[in-house]
Amino acid sequence: MTTQPNHSKKGTALITGASTGIGAIYADRLAKRGYDLILVARQQARLDAVATGIRSESGREVAVVVADLNVAADVRRVEAILSSDASITLLVNNAGVGATSSVLESDADKMDAMIGLNITSLARLAGAAARGFAARGTGALINIASIVAVAPEILNGVYGGSKAFVLAFSQSLHHELKDKGVQVQVVLPGATRTEFWDVAGLPAEHLPQNIVMDAQDMVDAALAGFDQGELVTIPSLPNAADWQAYEEARQHLVPNLSLSEPAPRFNVDRAGRN
Ligand code: NAP
Repeated sequence: MTTQPNHSKKGTALITGASTGIGAIYADRLAKRGYDLILVARQQARLDAVATGIRSESGREVAVVVADLNVAADVRRVEAILSSDASITLLVNNAGVGATSSVLESDADKMDAMIGLNITSLARLAGAAARGFAARGTGALINIASIVAVAPEILNGVYGGSKAFVLAFSQSLHHELKDKGVQVQVVLPGATRTEFWDVAGLPAEHLPQNIVMDAQDMVDAALAGFDQGELVTIPSLPNAADWQAYEEARQHLVPNLSLSEPAPRFNVDRAGRN
């Protein structure tokens, strides 16, 4: 008698940037929740170490995919997995890089690579996953943005802009997918203690420690928000009503954002134009 692999009833979660930091913690937590895993990042040795630890602790199936999400062929390879593997029920779009330099002092190629990873690959992978989820009428997408999505003055402007994209894209995806059985969550972490800050050029030890959250706390809060069905989760925000008020202010603008006439306050002299 052949033994069948013990596939998870929860299905499989594909997590990008799972070799360290926030992504590795999502991997641990999702395995404990009963998901099988596909872990994606560039560094094979680190991915293998994360996978081995999770397999022995949780007994779940863990596959590793070495891919550089700044390389178009690698992004397409991960898209193909998302499109063809119907056991995938959750995508955590987490891989991302930041910068602490000003735009004036930043290298244009590095900014371009940041856009490629934080925006292009995220949008392509989300699209591939969403098409499968919508067709099957079930699935969930977790996109990792940042508080700089709504506070872009804090760090590098391209980084802030890339995370504002992730927020807007997720809001739009939620609008498109909410009646198709697909859950969307966008997480806006504040400063979180990971290697992100070393890569971005300012180690987290140099930040005021009262603004830096432990990565395990961040992920546990974000997953609690996911369980509560939140679209936008800000792990440190004490009062959810504050986000609600911000969202209501945005919605209040909507009826006046596209009209046939300029606003009277601009005094456009339409009659005297010729
Ligand atoms: P991290 O510790 O630096 O981890 C980043 C992960 O992304 C690593 O697994 C890295 O693995 C992977 N990665 C980087 N470039 C990649 C590429 N080209 N292709 C594939 N994988 C790549 O950072 P983190 O703090 O966990 O960040 C995770 C997410 O949280 C990012 O989107 C970040 O913007 C967001 N975030 C972080 C903070 C913070 O304060 N830490 C705050 C707000 C939002 P390899 O090197 O093996 O490829």
